[in-house]
Amino acid sequence: MLTVALLLVDTGFLLLALLFTLESLREKEPRAPKIGLIGILFHLFLAGLILAVPPSRPWVAVFFGALLIILLLFLIPGKPNPRALKGAEGHVVGTVSRFDERDIVFARNRSLPPGSEQYRQYYERHPDREATDARRRERGGPIGRPGAIDQGYPPNVSMILSSFALPGFLAGQARVTPDPAQAPVALNPQEASEIVRGFAHHLGAALVGICRVNPRWAYSHRGEIFDGNWEDWGQEIAEPLPYAVVIATEMDLENVGAGPHTPALVESSANYARGAYITTILAQWFGGLGYRAVAQHNRHYDLLLVPLAIDAGLGELGRHGYLVADRFGPRVRLFAVTTDMPLQPDRPVDKGVEAFCRYCKKCATACPSRSVPPEGMTVQNGLERWKLNEETCFDYWGKVGTDCSVCMGICPFSRPDRSVHKIVKWLLPRSRLAQRLLPHLDNWVYGQKWKPRKVADWVKYS
Ligand code: SF4
Ligand code: SF4
Repeated sequence: MLTVALLLVDTGFLLLALLFTLESLREKEPRAPKIGLIGILFHLFLAGLILAVPPSRPWVAVFFGALLIILLLFLIPGKPNPRALKGAEGHVVGTVSRFDERDIVFARNRSLPPGSEQYRQYYERHPDREATDARRRERGGPIGRPGAIDQGYPPNVSMILSSFALPGFLAGQARVTPDPAQAPVALNPQEASEIVRGFAHHLGAALVGICRVNPRWAYSHRGEIFDGNWEDWGQEIAEPLPYAVVIATEMDLENVGAGPHTPALVESSANYARGAYITTILAQWFGGLGYRAVAQHNRHYDLLLVPLAIDAGLGELGRHGYLVADRFGPRVRLFAVTTDMPLQPDRPVDKGVEAFCRYCKKCATACPSRSVPPEGMTVQNGLERWKLNEETCFDYWGKVGTDCSVCMGICPFSRPDRSVHKIVKWLLPRSRLAQRLLPHLDNWVYGQKWKPRKVADWVKYS
């Protein structure tokens, strides 16, 4: 009887080790399959021991008993994270000044040509930024020479530029004001939310959430200019529309995993194009029903999208400053459509990300420019969070000519949403032990060193 029970338990662990090994091979992980194989061999050895050495059985039973007790300990429920459940507002601990789009590094680079009045005004107020920005401009901007790390491989560079062009083509359609003669179509907020959610998924959104817009996250002043419209620069941005449909598009794991090489930027730029396409159609849809709407996509943002996505229940803030989204982790790009059509907001979520990040630190260790803080959260502008050093991060982007993405690729939450990872993600918000132990286990099993992946032939890199 004892023998059969021991063999059954051992077979259970053996199957788990087998599943883990196969999944890790499928995910092309370099280290995890070896550990899985050791697990398989160990349980085969135990099976042999149980069958061939009867005096060993009580010891094996004690070993399995201890293992089962540890597994049961994982089921002791943890406390919910009140910060996560408050959404982005949970990070507010003091007075927050609204962010100014003129301070965004990309806006500074594009909208402050040397010799212009805007240039003089801006650097009079921020003399500390002038030399750094000048150096970046000389390199070609915050991303430098596209694909420099791969000697500017022309097919990839052209993919990047053509994808980035699409949001520009659609920019003129981003702000929708309906015909005043048209009465808005009355839909109940829940029904409207279900329809827009379904439509957004149909158009290609991987995740869709809805929130009431907290004006705190709107930019205070316009910093991007288009088509030489200099009068826009420095204009106060009007109060945003009250509701937002926030969408995330999924980024391909292989391409993100090639960071800091060019496929990572090919992937980002393709997602900016996808986001522009989806949000433009959604904004037009709201307009067709008689409501105002604004498509928030690349370079055409009125607000910060990460806090908006947190409020819409798409995920939590990670140590690396990206949203750690449900199912895809940071491997997403965010977009939104703001509207005055009444919608039913979703709730912020607690997925155990903050607790996991506290012990994981993988992104901080792997970051080539040491821009991700390995320590605790700090308070800046009234917000308590892990604050990325954007200056050193962008300096690295400028050197490699891509958006790097190493911190995104190495994050355990970026792994495919399958079997073993699904179990971990289910456990995390529920178990304090999982939050404490799994980050260390993850570092041991998957390693902390970054190695760019090989990718598909159509987007190869040198
Ligand atoms: S790599 Fe680790 S520490 Fe960094 S965001 Fe992901 S889970 Fe958090
Ligand atoms: S994008 Fe690269 S350089 Fe920037 S924080 Fe992430 S890993 Fe570091």
